[in-house]
Amino acid sequence: MHRVALVARHVLTPSLFFRRQMSMEPGAAINRVRESGLLKTQGLIGGKWIDAYDGKTIEVQNPATGDIVTSVAYMGKKETTDAISSAYNTFNSWSKHTASERSKCLRKWYDLMISHKEELALLMTLEQGKPLKEALGEVAYGAGFIEFFAEEAKRIYGDIIPATLADRRLFVLKQPVGVVGAITPWNFPLAMITRKVGPALACGCTVVVKPSEYTPLTALAAAELSLQAGIPPGVLNVVVGNASDIGDTLLQSTKVRKITFTGSTAVGKKLLAGSANTVKRISLELGGNAPCIVFDDADLDVAVKGALAAKFRNSGQTCVCANRILVQEGIYEKFANAFAKAVQNLHVGNGLVEGIAQGPLINEAAVEKVEKFIKDATSKGANVILGGRRHSLGMTFYEPTVLGNVNDEMLVSREEVFGPVAPLLRFKTEEDAIHIANDTNAGLAAYIFTTSIPRSWRVTEALEYGLVGVNEGLISTEVAPFGGFKQSGLGREGSKYGIDEYLELKYVCLGNMKEAYTK
Ligand code: NAP
Repeated sequence: MHRVALVARHVLTPSLFFRRQMSMEPGAAINRVRESGLLKTQGLIGGKWIDAYDGKTIEVQNPATGDIVTSVAYMGKKETTDAISSAYNTFNSWSKHTASERSKCLRKWYDLMISHKEELALLMTLEQGKPLKEALGEVAYGAGFIEFFAEEAKRIYGDIIPATLADRRLFVLKQPVGVVGAITPWNFPLAMITRKVGPALACGCTVVVKPSEYTPLTALAAAELSLQAGIPPGVLNVVVGNASDIGDTLLQSTKVRKITFTGSTAVGKKLLAGSANTVKRISLELGGNAPCIVFDDADLDVAVKGALAAKFRNSGQTCVCANRILVQEGIYEKFANAFAKAVQNLHVGNGLVEGIAQGPLINEAAVEKVEKFIKDATSKGANVILGGRRHSLGMTFYEPTVLGNVNDEMLVSREEVFGPVAPLLRFKTEEDAIHIANDTNAGLAAYIFTTSIPRSWRVTEALEYGLVGVNEGLISTEVAPFGGFKQSGLGREGSKYGIDEYLELKYVCLGNMKEAYTK
């Protein structure tokens, strides 16, 4: 089995310079970003780069080395209040720009992201740890939302409704909701922001973004590019700092009309409850527990390649990562052997080094969670087929792991492991697989591998999930709707549907028209 490169679908072709320098020292990487002017360490409020008012900072750590990349402003309530005011005051003018003007600004922002793709990818690898090729893939994916919504900005149509009375005309206008608070996680430091900010800005909303404290640098660099693109000051504001202070300020403000959040289900529920008091619109992209179902009739190579990509992207730290690999009993042994061989070939290390497919986990707590889940599984009868230990590289590196004989009582199949652990569960019939797959509160992504077209339809329709990959492990794209059933979230991001989350419908009744017609 050849080594499988775990990269997102739209990998950009790096420049010749970049290709020759695929392995880079962290110091050289940070210098390159600094020279490009994209190493920003302050928050962005009203178009100005600003320190925390009390001067507080927080260190950003490289999870691969433990080195401090830099320190950034650590903001709280006061800065967030000012960022909200800045977004509120700018809403009136930004929403009155024509769709074409907003579209041009977004398109310019997209172009700048692409021309700075290497610096953005380096920053992402430095602060998040994902391999550079995957980081380049995320820049393409993340920038793709800005390009897509630059185009969508011009297609926000209203409606004319046939009137029920002869002297009336009925219309539906679509208007931006207003100021949006966007809270994003560390696992996709760029794409989770652009997936929200792209549609928000396209339809005329203004935004206050709060990125994760683990990965503020990519967010701040993208914000700097938004200014260079001519997006007016105050349209996009970024506050970095105390999560609950910033979150509470956004929730309590009546100026903020919508909260959009990607992150854990636990924090999502808090934000949903917190939005009640001011009755805000809210969309939530939360945790998953993705089943990956391999049927006896699957093409083995396709299933191994797809399951590998679905499980080990970003070292298992994505919401759509296969969390449970359900394998039918007739193909179980063959699949387990071929899959373990493929996993063994994944090179672990610093993402700045060429050929690395698995970076470190984000922090020590993430490694401890993986250890706890493996201990629970083995104590209940699972066996370690591969890995199962911290990696000899130390830090937060963990060996890519395959567990056999897992059952649906174990923690590893009940909850999101968010690490490089692939639990294999054996099943007998299609009905069993569907039952096990749906027996969870999550409902984000699911994968099935089968060569039977009728089965692929039957199972897809029975799965209670927002995204289904059939014979494919990498399915995210800006042109398709992304979002979960059940407790995996509310609303959809990306695609033509994603912009609806940022629009209000206004019904207009034009009455007393008889006189106008008879004159
Ligand atoms: P998290 O702990 O929920 O954090 C997400 C964001 O919320 C971060 O910016 C965090 O800030 C902030 N936050 C934490 N507590 C908060 C509070 N009380 N009020 C307001 N904001 C608060 O999630 P994570 O560990 O970063 O991300 C992993 C989770 O995200 C996984 O469950 C994954 O499945 C989910 N995810 C879902 C999707 C999707 O599209 N469905 C995509 C990616 C990830 P700090 O980081 O600064 O503390």
